[in-house]
Amino acid sequence: MPPVDVEAYSQLQQELSPRGVKILAVSKTHPLEDIQQLYELGHRDFGENYVQELLSKQKQLPADIRWHFIGHLQTNKVKQIAPFIYCIHSVDSLKLLQEIHRHAEKLQRIIPVLLQVHIARESTKFGLDETTLMQLLAHHHLYPNAHIIGLMGMATLTSDTEQIRTEFHYLNQLFQQIKTRYFSDRADFRELSIGMSNDYRIAVEEGSTMVRIGSLIFGPRITH
Ligand SMILES: *Cc1c(COP(=O)(O)O)cnc(C)c1O
Repeated sequence: MPPVDVEAYSQLQQELSPRGVKILAVSKTHPLEDIQQLYELGHRDFGENYVQELLSKQKQLPADIRWHFIGHLQTNKVKQIAPFIYCIHSVDSLKLLQEIHRHAEKLQRIIPVLLQVHIARESTKFGLDETTLMQLLAHHHLYPNAHIIGLMGMATLTSDTEQIRTEFHYLNQLFQQIKTRYFSDRADFRELSIGMSNDYRIAVEEGSTMVRIGSLIFGPRITH
């Protein structure tokens, strides 16, 4: 198993922290030891995609890790992660927002969430289209325990960097519009979760506040 690329991680930090961009270390498929190693370097924000894997890791690793959920989340699984999840990046339906609110309210907590917007060309990727996004926003105030703090998106998997830039740019414009229209009184609506190992530089140029980096830090994913 290749170890964590500590060198790549420090370079990322040096590049991103002066710009105020946070690094979310995407640890899906990678073992506990790798997460522990990064934790010992002081890193606290980790992202996972699968509920079962997240639950198992969360039980075995330090309690002060901030776990972010970034994969497609089924409404019937919200209950399992609601007690501890730090942020859910992948809210892609009103039903899911309602369910997060319902469980958060029972637990007397506020769960920060991001709305995932479909910006890629691939139809296989998840996320709200602009119309559904606006419908959801018209009702979001009914679900205050699912606290919307920004938007998330995944660009098309392509080597065409202008295409990627166009998609991130569109999401940032949408973010600004929504901020003005729905959250002008809320300073904590400020996160734009865009950028992965292959496109994070473009994402940062287009306004990312949080990049989700997996393979650059942990090496290629171990396939299930
Ligand atoms: C896996 C994953 C990442 C990280 O991808 P890398 O290319 O390994 O950096 C980021 N975001 C989401 C939603 C992912 O599923």
